[in-house]
Amino acid sequence: MPIYNAPTKDIQFVLHDLLKVSEQNIPGFEDLDRDFTSAVVEEAGKVASEVLHPLNVVGDTEGCVMENGVVRTPTGFKDAFQQMKDGGWTAMDCDPEYGGQGLPYVMHTAAQEPFVSANMAFNMYQGLTHGAYSAIYAHGSDEQKQTYLPKLTTCEWTGTMNLTEPHCGTDLGLMRTKAVPNDDGSYKISGQKIFISAGEHDMADNIIHLVLAKIQGGPEGIKGVSLFIVPKFLVNDDGSLGARNGVACGKIEEKMGIHGNSTCVMNYDEATGFLVGEEHKGMRAMFTMMNEARLGVGLQGYAQAESAYQNAVAYANDRLQGRDVTGAKNPDGPADPLIVHPDIRRNLMDQKSFVEGARAFTYWGAYLIDRAHKNQDADADGLISLMTPVIKGFLTDKGFEYATAAQQVYGGHGYIEEWGMSQYARDARIAMIYEGANGVQALDLVGRKLALDGGKHVMAFFEMIKTFIKENEGNEALNKDFLNPLKAASKDLQAAGMYFMQNATKPNNALSGSYDFMHMMGHVCLGLMWARMAKAAMEALENGASDTAFYETKIATGRYYMARQLPATAMHLARINTGGDTVMALEAANF
Ligand SMILES: Cc1cc2nc3c(=O)[nH]c(=O)nc-3n(C[C@H](O)[C@H](O)[C@H](O)COP(=O)(O)OP(=O)(O)OC[C@H]3O[C@@H](n4cnc5c(N)ncnc54)[C@H](O)[C@@H]3O)c2cc1C
Repeated sequence: MPIYNAPTKDIQFVLHDLLKVSEQNIPGFEDLDRDFTSAVVEEAGKVASEVLHPLNVVGDTEGCVMENGVVRTPTGFKDAFQQMKDGGWTAMDCDPEYGGQGLPYVMHTAAQEPFVSANMAFNMYQGLTHGAYSAIYAHGSDEQKQTYLPKLTTCEWTGTMNLTEPHCGTDLGLMRTKAVPNDDGSYKISGQKIFISAGEHDMADNIIHLVLAKIQGGPEGIKGVSLFIVPKFLVNDDGSLGARNGVACGKIEEKMGIHGNSTCVMNYDEATGFLVGEEHKGMRAMFTMMNEARLGVGLQGYAQAESAYQNAVAYANDRLQGRDVTGAKNPDGPADPLIVHPDIRRNLMDQKSFVEGARAFTYWGAYLIDRAHKNQDADADGLISLMTPVIKGFLTDKGFEYATAAQQVYGGHGYIEEWGMSQYARDARIAMIYEGANGVQALDLVGRKLALDGGKHVMAFFEMIKTFIKENEGNEALNKDFLNPLKAASKDLQAAGMYFMQNATKPNNALSGSYDFMHMMGHVCLGLMWARMAKAAMEALENGASDTAFYETKIATGRYYMARQLPATAMHLARINTGGDTVMALEAANF
C-alpha cells in the first residue's frame, strides 16, 4: 500500500518564507499568520492521509459502475465526501454571502494540494463543482446565484463543465449542441456531450451541468456559443427539487486512470437550460475562470509526482541491491539500499527539485490570482494570464514524467499493480490532455499570451528577473549557484522570443517551436522560484532558524535544479532556432 504524508513544512515555507503571505496588502491576507495557515494545512493533511488516501487504490480498482442509469462511486467515496462537506473543505475561498469562508485563493490552493495528492479522482468531484461555482459567481444573474451557489458551496449539489462533443474537442466552433428559446426565457438544450467528468454519480442530491450550446440562428462557429445552466433536477421557486430534467448519462467511459471519477457521455434531450450571462458570449464566460481551472490541473500534475516521489524515497531506502561504489553503507547486510547509488540519487533529485519548484510556482500563480481579483491589479491579471499555459502545460508534462521516474526506482515492482506506483502515472497522464491539451497550451502561450497587451506582460516578467538578479548579485553564494544560471536561462528565453518576433511572417516557424518555448519558460519560472527560495532559506539560516537541516536541504535541492535542470533551456533554444523546415519536411502521405 503506497504512503502519503502531506508536505506541511514545505507548504508553510512557500506561504511564509517565499510569498510572505501575512505581510501582503491584499484583502483577506491579514488573517494568514503562521499559526492559522499551519492549523489549516495540518488539518487538510490529516484528512488527506487518513480519509482520502486509503480510498485512492479502492477508487482505482473498483472504479465507478453504472447500473440502470445510476452511477455508483467506489466504496467509501460517499462517506468521505460527506466528511469533506462537514469539514467545510469545499468552500474555503467561496464568498461568505453564499456560505463560503472567503479565504484567499492561495489558501484554498494550499489546502487542495494534499487532497489532490492523496486522491486525485475523488477530489475532482469537488474541483468541478468549484468550477461551476466560479462560472455562475462571475456571470450568473442574482437569482441564479441565490438558487445555485449556496448548494454548490457546500457540495450538496455538485457541478460539471460540458464542452466536449464527439467531433469537437479543441475546436469548439464545431459544436452541435443546440439551444432553442422557450416562451418563458429558458431554452431547450439538445445534443450529446462526451467525457464529462463527474457527469453522473451518487454523492449529491442534484448535479448542476454547465453546458456550452449554440442558440439557433446565432453566429457561426465559436462566436455563436452560449453558456447554460442545466440542472439534473429542476429547482422549484422555494429551492426544493422539482421534476427530473431531460438530461441523462448514456454511459461511463473505461479509461486509463482516475477510475474513481465518473467520465460520462451526457445526452441532452430538450432539457431545460438557463442562459448564463449574455447570448453568444459563452466562451468569454468560460475563459474568465480558465486561469483557476488550469492552475488546478497544473497542481494535479505535480501533486501526483509528489505522492509518487514519497513512495520512491521510501522504497530506495528499503530495497537492498548492490554496493555503494565508495564503500559499503550496510556492511552487515547482504547489500546496500538503493539510495546509495548515484543514478538513483539523480532520479530522486530530479523529482524532488521539480516538485518543490512546481509548488512554489503554483502558489505564486494563486497569489497572483488573489492580487488580480482582490486588489483589481491589472498587472497581476496580465502576468497570471501569461503564466497559465505554462503552469498547466509544463507542470503536467513534468508531473507525468516524474511519476514514471518514481516507478523506475522500483524496477519491475513499479510495473506491478500491487505496489500502487502505476496508478500515479496513469492518473497523472490525463492532466496533460484535459482542460486544453498541452500542445494547445503551447499555442496559446506563443500565439496569444506573448503578444497580450503589446507584449507588456512578458516584458514585465523579464524585468522581474533582471531586477531580482540586480538586487541580489552582491550575495556571492546566491550569485554563483542561482543568479548566474538564471541569467543564462532567461537570456535563452529572450532569444527564443526574439526568434518568434523575427519570424512573425512565417507562422510554421513559431508554431514548430511553441512546445519547446513552453518548456523553456517553465524552466525559467522554476529557476526564478528556486533562486527566490534559496534566498529565503539563506536568510532564515542567517536569522538563526532552528530547523537548519530543512533550510540547508532546500538550498542544496535548489542548487541541483539550477545545475542539472535549468540548462535544458539551451537545448530548447537550439531546437527553436532551427525553425519549422525539418518539422514540416514530409508530405502528410509520407508519415
Ligand atoms: C478523462 C477525461 C475527462 C474529461 N473531462 C472533461 C470535462 O469534464 N468536460 C469537458 O468538456 N471535456 C472533458 N474532457 C475532454 C478533454 O477536455 C478533451 O479530450 C481535450 O480538450 C482534447 O480534445 P479532443 O480529445 O477532442 O482532442 P482533439 O481536439 O481532437 O486534439 C487531438 C490532438 O491534436 C492537437 N490539436 C488540436 N488542435 C490543434 C491545433 N489547432 N494545433 C495544434 N494541435 C492541435 C491536440 O493538442 C491533441 O494533442 C475530458 C477528457 C477525458 C479523457
